[in-house]
Amino acid sequence: MSQRSAAEQLARDLPAMPYVGGQWRESSAAPAFDVIDPVTERRLTVVTEADEAAVDRAVAAARAALDDGEWGRMSGAARGQLLHAFAQLLEERAEDFADLESLDVGKPGVEPRVIDLPQAVATFRHFAGWADKVTGQSIPTGGYAGRPTLSYTVREPIGVVAAITPWNSPTMIGSWKLAPALAAGCTVILKPPEDAPLTSLLLAQVAERAGFPPGVLNVLPGRGPTTGTLLIEHPGVDKISFTGSPETGRIVAAAATNGFRPVTLELGGKSPQIVFADADLDAAADGVALGIFANQGEVCAAGSRIMVAREIHDEFVERLAARAAKVVLGDPFDPGTTMGALVNAKQRDRVLRYIRIGREEGARLVTGGERPDRAGYFVEPTLFAGAANDMTIAREEIFGPVGTIIPFADDRQAVAIANDSRYALAATLWTTDLSRAHTLAGRVRAGAVAVNGWSPLDPALPWGGSGFSGQGRELGQAGLEANTTLKTITVVL
Ligand code: NAD
Repeated sequence: MSQRSAAEQLARDLPAMPYVGGQWRESSAAPAFDVIDPVTERRLTVVTEADEAAVDRAVAAARAALDDGEWGRMSGAARGQLLHAFAQLLEERAEDFADLESLDVGKPGVEPRVIDLPQAVATFRHFAGWADKVTGQSIPTGGYAGRPTLSYTVREPIGVVAAITPWNSPTMIGSWKLAPALAAGCTVILKPPEDAPLTSLLLAQVAERAGFPPGVLNVLPGRGPTTGTLLIEHPGVDKISFTGSPETGRIVAAAATNGFRPVTLELGGKSPQIVFADADLDAAADGVALGIFANQGEVCAAGSRIMVAREIHDEFVERLAARAAKVVLGDPFDPGTTMGALVNAKQRDRVLRYIRIGREEGARLVTGGERPDRAGYFVEPTLFAGAANDMTIAREEIFGPVGTIIPFADDRQAVAIANDSRYALAATLWTTDLSRAHTLAGRVRAGAVAVNGWSPLDPALPWGGSGFSGQGRELGQAGLEANTTLKTITVVL
């Protein structure tokens, strides 16, 4: 059996239904939706959607696990052991996860093996280590009515967390939400993307095998406007952690105001990659190409605004075009493939529409721009040069393999252009000048700045943005604390 056929069989064998309170729940009354392979355009499986009854049951199960079950009483160290067991099982099944992710999302097989799965495993291991280190402080105060006091803070789990993930990297982004929430002692209801729900169903199986008590992790497959709406509006949810588009982020934020519930929003980006004349141009060309073509450009941190110093502009564009020419579009299961298909027809058409707008607005098409004549939602790797920062292709997130190259004159103008965006997620500086690197890293508006490497990932590093890129942080200590609430206790002695 070929690797593709084996992956298709695995997809058909998954329990394609909600996982609630430790049980898979089929319901003939609930609606179902098709999961489509973006490369063959064929149906992979049919998934039963979580309806209102399933959402109610999941919230009740998550609440019971927190308030009445062993999870709520479990020590941090024991939670850490469960997270380690989870990481171990994830690692053992990494090949299955990678194949399902390629099948469902359309990404070339190497990417989940080198990025998504190792990152997901590392994230569970990192937060396993945090689980017994969720601490408060003892705080000296001036006493109370002439008597001494002992004051301290404790960090408590925030409660039932609704985690909503996007289709571009559902395993890795799922791990960013599950691991810190579980380490903090919360319970979680995961609503995976309808376009790529398969690996989240496998995550539920892994949690079950790792030995998490029932109700600690619930997985509710379903569409955004149906299951997603039911979940974010449910009063039993204490926190919403959302990754997706700014349009949906606005709906999630509005729902969270009902009950004044905290919300973490990881939205899109229009991240600059700034190449200075003193950069190592070969390394920069490799990094910039990765930054816009990895995962078909369907990456929140995609370096889609490629800003190049005027004196090296033409030479750099040539180098970048040479990298684009080497991209091999194809089936993610072919070993030679370096770029797969976009996730669905809607996303392909959205990307093609932006390419048309780029042409109409007068940017120069250097390479790509077409949809290959074959099945699947493919779009060629595309570069526009001679663009201005006020063009639509420089302002709006395309979420596809389309780079917009913008020249700049000096450092001052580079920072001004980089910061002239409603997004502020990530930025990359390519320079060999240490002083310039540190000075400009401080001036560029972004949640994360990288120098001489596109978007380094590590679960220890806080991740998130501001403006249209969202609010709050995932990962690192900040990500852990975002799943806790701080209680102050004062004892009058
Ligand atoms: P999307 O907003 O359409 O969907 C994201 C998730 O929200 C899905 O699970 C979807 O079912 C759900 N959803 C949709 N409507 C909903 C509603 N009304 N109520 C509740 N849930 C709802 O985004 P997408 O198309 O899946 O992902 C692409 C977008 O996500 C891009 O804009 C991209 O930049 C962004 N993204 C950001 C990050 C990050 O870390 N900042 C990471 C990946 C993707």
